[in-house]
Amino acid sequence: MTLFDDIPLPGLELEPRHEGVVTERRAYSNAIAPSAHTIDRFWSRVIRSPGCWLWVGAISGGDGYGRITWRRDGVSRTMSAHRFALLLAYGDDDSYTVGEHRCNEPLCVRVDDGHLIPSTQTANLRYAVACGRAGANRTTGDGRTRAQRSLAVRAAICNGWDPIAYAEAVGKVEDRDLPTLF
Ligand SMILES: [Zn+2]
Repeated sequence: MTLFDDIPLPGLELEPRHEGVVTERRAYSNAIAPSAHTIDRFWSRVIRSPGCWLWVGAISGGDGYGRITWRRDGVSRTMSAHRFALLLAYGDDDSYTVGEHRCNEPLCVRVDDGHLIPSTQTANLRYAVACGRAGANRTTGDGRTRAQRSLAVRAAICNGWDPIAYAEAVGKVEDRDLPTLF
């Protein structure tokens, strides 16, 4: 299984294409539905905390979101993990264009009013600005890219939910637990 995936993909939200990265072209379609096997594979890579349901499969090195790819009859399709969760909940509905993380956890795939909801790019950016997130900016506010943060989160919980390891990975540790810097 691919743990790290930095291939430019159709359908990426809010991110420019990375020119010149793809060296191999494969048949691709936005129309193939995921099989039951693909859906099982998706859920096998989700760790459910009491709050967020966290994707621990492939992560894009470009935008830091989860990725899932599947193939049918030699044709492949890739989606961000949270968009895949929305597909399972709502079907292949073009009336929304992005998923919005109300929980501000990019790896969350829990379709729920408090976590992941279907949205439009405009509404998503408005919400990001209201939350102090930088919208299309990939940084997390603590000097890491979203991809670096996502990789740290995945490493912390990929073997099971661990609230302390998760808190450390997202940088929410108590002051008393911080290492002395000087
Ligand atoms: Zn969440």
